[in-house]
Amino acid sequence: MNYDFTDKEFNLFIEIHTLISQWAKDNNLESSDSDLSEQQIRQALGQLSQTAYLELGLRKTDKKDAGNGLLTLMGAMEVIGALSPSLLLSVETSTRIFGRILSTWGTDSQKENLLAPLMDGGLIGAVGLSEDAMNVENDALMTTGVIDGDHATVSGRKQYVINAPMADWFAVAGLVDGKEALFLVAKDTPGLAVGERVATMGYQGAAISSIILSGCEIPASQVIYPGKAMLGTLRHWENQVLIGASLGLMKAAFESAKNYAKTHKTGGKPIIAYQKIGFKLSEMLTLFQASQLFAYKAAWAANSDPKDVESLTWCAKVFCTESAEQVTAKAMRILGGAGFTSGNPVEQSFRCSEYGLFAGTSTEISRVKIGDNALGAMK
Ligand SMILES: Cc1cc2nc3c(=O)[nH]c(=O)nc-3n(C[C@H](O)[C@H](O)[C@H](O)COP(=O)(O)OP(=O)(O)OC[C@H]3O[C@@H](n4cnc5c(N)ncnc54)[C@H](O)[C@@H]3O)c2cc1C
Repeated sequence: MNYDFTDKEFNLFIEIHTLISQWAKDNNLESSDSDLSEQQIRQALGQLSQTAYLELGLRKTDKKDAGNGLLTLMGAMEVIGALSPSLLLSVETSTRIFGRILSTWGTDSQKENLLAPLMDGGLIGAVGLSEDAMNVENDALMTTGVIDGDHATVSGRKQYVINAPMADWFAVAGLVDGKEALFLVAKDTPGLAVGERVATMGYQGAAISSIILSGCEIPASQVIYPGKAMLGTLRHWENQVLIGASLGLMKAAFESAKNYAKTHKTGGKPIIAYQKIGFKLSEMLTLFQASQLFAYKAAWAANSDPKDVESLTWCAKVFCTESAEQVTAKAMRILGGAGFTSGNPVEQSFRCSEYGLFAGTSTEISRVKIGDNALGAMK
């Protein structure tokens, strides 16, 4: 196991940082204005398409290429997430969740017509999985598709869908004759309605709304049948994104708190000179670095050891998302009143950190699954 990034990977991280950092400062990527969000995400995708970033994990590579892009992706998500958590969530939902549906289960024509423009930055995707206050871990999907000859009629409702107000295409999870399926629905399909944008506590720049499908007719060729592993696989990809996002939140909060502690003076000295502040920073750095190692190991395992990867990813997700909550809370304490005023990276990361705890496989459900797996291994 060697998680050292290569020069090529470091160069990609520098390239992404150079392209995005000043642009992120000059724009308001955390704005909750839907038109602005769309304009900015499309611009960002255009810029990111100049790098290898949008293709990571999507192109089939030789198995010996232990990276297959996923370990590189973890490092790249940390860079983007630290600059703008909302940009990361929006781009990753489109690329690594909608995109991986196409790269893993799509037909050649779906790859050509949807995946290729997605990797070129010209298409935004969204994924509707969870339903009205229903966690897919607990409840059967209510969205259904009825096949009639060469078309399918889809009906259902998804309450929270990232990118919905701006997406060109949706992948909607549901059932066809009791079989799990994904319906690929274009934004202008009659019967598809996108709800009002939902106001959120964190990730405010990621546009989220409900979608309602009322007898939405799509070609039967736009129905994908991934098999029984569909929901688990989608959750697994979501968990990988949330792990990367947590690294970005910790990086932003740690760097800001460290700089503040070095420059903000009280009692005639910078607050880093107070041992209690130094201790907080050391605890933050320890959690951040341990999270990086865990995240890299889970990404590495996704290519190298599929047997254990699911359980390892749940463990990494629990550790990284809970660490992000702790690290960002400690950063808030270091900034004192300056942290409480809105619009700084620390309070932003603090608010966003709550999302990772319940989204994907929640920390509670992950613990149940890790326990069940461990028990299974002992039998
Ligand atoms: C901002 C935002 C964006 C979202 N984006 C998307 C999206 O793009 N696509 C999409 O499909 N969905 C999306 N969602 C939905 C999200 O995935 C769900 O909110 C999530 O799955 C949790 O479901 P829930 O909110 O109904 O919580 P619940 O399932 O009701 O959980 C509530 C609490 O109970 C615990 N719990 C639930 N079941 C168990 C169990 N079996 N064992 C132990 N504890 C349990 C949970 O851990 C949690 O603490 C989004 C939600 C939000 C808020």
